[in-house]
Amino acid sequence: MLRRGLRVWLLWLAASVLAAEQQSGTIAEGTPWATAWFAQDSGQPGPTVLIVGGVHGNEPAGARAAAQVRHWPIARGKLVVIPRANELALREGTRLLPDGEERDLNRSFPREAGEEPRGELAKALWAFVGEVRPAWLLDLHEGIGVRQQDAKTTGSSIIHDGRAATAAKAARLLEAVNATVADVDRKFVLLDGAARGALARAASERLGAHAMLLETTWKGQPLSLRVRQHRLMVHRFLTDLEMLAGGPDVLMPPERSEGEVRVALYDAGGAGASVAILEKKIAGTPGARVERVGPPEILAGALGQFDVLAIPGGSASREAKAITPEGREAIRKFVAAGGGYVGVCAGAYLATCSYAWSLAILDARAVDTEHWQRGTGDVKIELTAEGRRILGDQAGLIDIRYANGPLLAPAERPDIPDFAPLALFRSEINKHNAPQGVMPGTTAIACGAWGKGRVFVSSVHTEGTRGLDALVHRAVQWAAQREPR
Ligand SMILES: [Zn+2]
Repeated sequence: MLRRGLRVWLLWLAASVLAAEQQSGTIAEGTPWATAWFAQDSGQPGPTVLIVGGVHGNEPAGARAAAQVRHWPIARGKLVVIPRANELALREGTRLLPDGEERDLNRSFPREAGEEPRGELAKALWAFVGEVRPAWLLDLHEGIGVRQQDAKTTGSSIIHDGRAATAAKAARLLEAVNATVADVDRKFVLLDGAARGALARAASERLGAHAMLLETTWKGQPLSLRVRQHRLMVHRFLTDLEMLAGGPDVLMPPERSEGEVRVALYDAGGAGASVAILEKKIAGTPGARVERVGPPEILAGALGQFDVLAIPGGSASREAKAITPEGREAIRKFVAAGGGYVGVCAGAYLATCSYAWSLAILDARAVDTEHWQRGTGDVKIELTAEGRRILGDQAGLIDIRYANGPLLAPAERPDIPDFAPLALFRSEINKHNAPQGVMPGTTAIACGAWGKGRVFVSSVHTEGTRGLDALVHRAVQWAAQREPR
């Protein structure tokens, strides 16, 4: 093991000195199906591995994992990645091709020798695979359920092509991913034989590639977890082939692009459905590159790859519990070292000093926590002078979405710098016996410093209110210590 580790490390060193040759291009160029491919040629002898994501547009985890994996520096052989094979379907979130014919792309590849692929996209993809001639093909998918519990789904399975070498590799990937699945009823299983017309099956039967489908389960599991399961399997695969020396929790490319703002968005335990809209709004920030993270990434130290951690609405206590005390300490250290924190609603509660499980990175407490369930609806807020400086000059009252967020007041902690109120509540919601008159005048949006980092919290849902995208962008830029553009 040590010897192999050393060998891979030396190969990796050689490859990093020589710098793997990067190539990219477009499949089905000039058509509505156009999609990018990326290749790294290490210049060292070794296998050609093709990784495909996004064949089904309603299975986002594979596409996201492939987009991360394509940046992993390889030590030998060649790594070719098509992160978003079915770009149009991914944009629409549909399984079938949105071409009016309702075709399943993964049943469109040649079933018999000499048979043509069905449809323009399958033809273009098949021609590309034929040119690449991969020794190995991994096609990253998702199923709705868990195969172990439901024979009608392929979720949480690895489907190999039945050849001995492929089956042996599949067993290794199974071991890697199942080591992180605590629930025995949810562990991945091996299956033999993909459907006819599937890319993996056609590549195996027609082109002689060793091919597998990796299938995560999308129902009831955060995207960060499913993406990580794909990463873990691909990582084990490339490590076994002595192509890779790094770890599985590399989510960001080694090189930064000009003006890039790297945002980790928490989406796991306790996070509410609003995480999807928050992601869209954050992604609109100039230079933003957003990836979802959960407790495993936080505990693995992956926050170090990012400029900002964003925590969405949901249940703050459940977020805190899922993140674990060690994860919360990792977040505190991340911010203290210069990272940014953006917390919305539950994410705002989490940053305060209100509870034993709070991060205590902002010198704020929530007022009247006894009546935290004061209700949801639109409220009016007003930016302070500091708020207009940081968030943009918007005078007067702003109507904004509120959903049981904290009413912020100073916590008077001597060890934390005072926060600056950026917006105050100017109206109130006081359902469920919450007393009248408590909410107006308390702080709705605040910012502060923690170590070398910046903390921005919003009790109100800037992301969930039409026309306030700029507030989200400004918050992210401020937390990342960038000048607004
Ligand atoms: Zn699929």
